[in-house]
Amino acid sequence: MTSTKIIINCRACGLRVYYELSEQEQKIIKKSAVYWPCPVIVKHRDHFLVIHLDENFQNRGTETSKVLLLHEAEDLEKLVEDKKPPK
Ligand SMILES: [Zn+2]
Repeated sequence: MTSTKIIINCRACGLRVYYELSEQEQKIIKKSAVYWPCPVIVKHRDHFLVIHLDENFQNRGTETSKVLLLHEAEDLEKLVEDKKPPK
């Protein structure tokens, strides 16, 4: 396995971003992917890129976000509990 170059068109700043995915990063993604394309988050300047990578680490679509964190994990658990149907 060698490093793989990913090309991202960033919609937040209009730049074309070249990201070199190392062998180590590829191993981590392969090991932890729940589904494909696997969303991977990369920080770019003051915003984040959500890159959807397929099994061959090709970019299958990118989203951009300046939102960092809406809720702490405990709050999210409460939101999920509120949506559970009554027993
Ligand atoms: Zn950007």
